[in-house]
Amino acid sequence: MRARRGAGYCLKQDCSGFGQPFLLMRPSVPFECPVCMRTGVLETERWARTGEGALVTEVRVDFDFDPERRRYRKRTLKVERGLEGRRSVVTLQSPLIDTREQAIRVARRLLDTLNARARFSLRDPTPAKATRRDLIAEGWTVLA
Ligand SMILES: [Zn+2]
Repeated sequence: MRARRGAGYCLKQDCSGFGQPFLLMRPSVPFECPVCMRTGVLETERWARTGEGALVTEVRVDFDFDPERRRYRKRTLKVERGLEGRRSVVTLQSPLIDTREQAIRVARRLLDTLNARARFSLRDPTPAKATRRDLIAEGWTVLA
């Protein structure tokens, strides 16, 4: 499990940054709201893999992060059919994914990427990185 990108949230209702995600390419603790300079909530993107299979049989993507409850509201699954043998499940939790359409796209890409790499016998899969431009196009505010 690795921390990668993250999002910071200001939970002060009197702040104009309230509830708005601030994208952080290199998250550091604690998150300080860039508007009111008070400490907020930081959620980092992370993934975990369970199971013994070399090929990934299922990808789960947790999305629609709720900063007040500090949990994800939704999950989507992508299952690779027709793979025999041992199961291997990858779970990605990302505060950068808001919609089911995005989550499905990420799950599909992750499954394809991980299995393409596994087929080349690489044992340390890493999700494909979105570029700064992709993130800005999705409506994120890039801070660092
Ligand atoms: Zn604030």
